[in-house]
Amino acid sequence: EASAQLHEIKSRIAADTPEDILAFIDSHLLMLEDPAFDEGAAAIIREFSCNAEWALQVQCDRLVQVFDEMDDAYLKTRKDDVLHVVQRIQHCLAEKPESKAEPVKLKGRIVISDDLTPADTLMMQHQKVAAFVTEFGGPLSHTAILARNLGIPAIVGVHNARQLIHPTEQLIIDGHYGVVIGEPDPRSLKHYRKLRQKDAVRKQRLNQLINKPAVTKDGVHILLQGNIDRPEDIRKLKQYDNTGVGLYRTEMLFLENNQSVDEETQFKTYKRALFRLKGKPLTIRTLDLGADKEIQESMGQGPMAHNPAMGLRAIRRCLKEPESFIHQLCAIMRVAAYGDVKMMIPMLTNIHELDQVSALIEHARELLHQRTVRFNDKIEIGAMIEVPAAAISSEVFANRLDFLSIGTNDLIQYTLAIDRIDDEVNYLYNPLHPAVLQLVNITIDAGKKAKVPVSMCGEMASDPKYTRLLLGMGLNYFSVQANALLEIKDIINNSNLGKLRTKVRKILSCHDLNEIELLVDKLNN
Ligand code: PEP
Ligand code: MG
Repeated sequence: EASAQLHEIKSRIAADTPEDILAFIDSHLLMLEDPAFDEGAAAIIREFSCNAEWALQVQCDRLVQVFDEMDDAYLKTRKDDVLHVVQRIQHCLAEKPESKAEPVKLKGRIVISDDLTPADTLMMQHQKVAAFVTEFGGPLSHTAILARNLGIPAIVGVHNARQLIHPTEQLIIDGHYGVVIGEPDPRSLKHYRKLRQKDAVRKQRLNQLINKPAVTKDGVHILLQGNIDRPEDIRKLKQYDNTGVGLYRTEMLFLENNQSVDEETQFKTYKRALFRLKGKPLTIRTLDLGADKEIQESMGQGPMAHNPAMGLRAIRRCLKEPESFIHQLCAIMRVAAYGDVKMMIPMLTNIHELDQVSALIEHARELLHQRTVRFNDKIEIGAMIEVPAAAISSEVFANRLDFLSIGTNDLIQYTLAIDRIDDEVNYLYNPLHPAVLQLVNITIDAGKKAKVPVSMCGEMASDPKYTRLLLGMGLNYFSVQANALLEIKDIINNSNLGKLRTKVRKILSCHDLNEIELLVDKLNN
């Protein structure tokens, strides 16, 4: 059964799935045939008269111990494969016969679910799901961001959706406005078909901006780059514009495999991204696992954190597990020998964390020297500014680093104390809150003072509503969702920076959220 499941997964994933992911499925298939599993477990059943699940667990513990005792760091991590395969068999053993129904074909369907993880969303793209609706989760959750990046229409936080929507119902999912229409009448269908046509015309007009520079009316060049989760996303990015990447979220590689990934696989994956960019720059963000991005091996280890977004996430987790982090540092420094690659550290809160990162980078350098492999000794390193503490002390970070990038998704979450994946408090999530604007402004100013570039890679940069405001604040580097590239460029090309500065100064001195919203609307009209 476990082997049939793996064959099924293999046959269903898209043709452009990276070889390393296919290889990992193959290695699990090979393991399933290994007598160490079935003969070993059978011997334990005979000896102890225990059930199959238990016997398999005992055999698994023995195998894991063998891997743990190995000196080779690469082989050591292979124990994760054993755990993965054992879990799969144990699931099959525990499954009730009635749950072995034919898997539903999802192509072209709309999925209605209680909640989805970012990994589910990736799988949906492979399965060519038409759209999805979840009962929980906020629009700034990684699931929602991924859906936007992958171009899957989605609405999150629709309470009771599973009860209110019938499985056979025809649906319209309007992801722009968060509207679900069940059994639409002919007028609604006509309206939405028209909207689709209008959108196509708008896209055609924007397509004329492909490969054109982003320059304001008064001649200021603005750097526009894209956000990606996987090397495969670069194809989509190139469809919109020929830009570099200002944020590559590497944790998606781990989520797709649902386990840690060794240095070699990381190196090959990052290199594939770099080569697909054909000379354009690539900013690789180090792992940001934790909170809503978890892999199997870290689940169930100790009690659940009460407040995972404030817990062991991103750089905190990497510093707690330096052996694994070194693999990533080495992989990034190696790939930086082949082109314009920068390294970006997420969720720094104080300069001591940066000291620790620097020490680990130094250690990675020594290791790579010893191994005599090709790597870039002078890779540029930057910090994400996404915690209020970091924004307030951004000058210190700017003085120590090559660049800063503002992560507004988290910066807003932590400034306003609202969980970005909790739909109950999402109404409070507002990039225009005066406190958020002050923190963004402090960071942009700190970069200017230290003469280091400051970009913004959070969703605020991808929302055309805020483009002029950010330009007026002095932001001249945006990293955005692929499908927002041309629209943002269009706004930049139709803006006069000189005029914006004075108006934005007035907005920054304002403390009333309603007034700020009105003034921002005025900027856009
Ligand atoms: C952010 O926080 O704004 C950001 C870009 O990082 P992520 O969304 O991956 O947390
Ligand atoms: Mg973040």
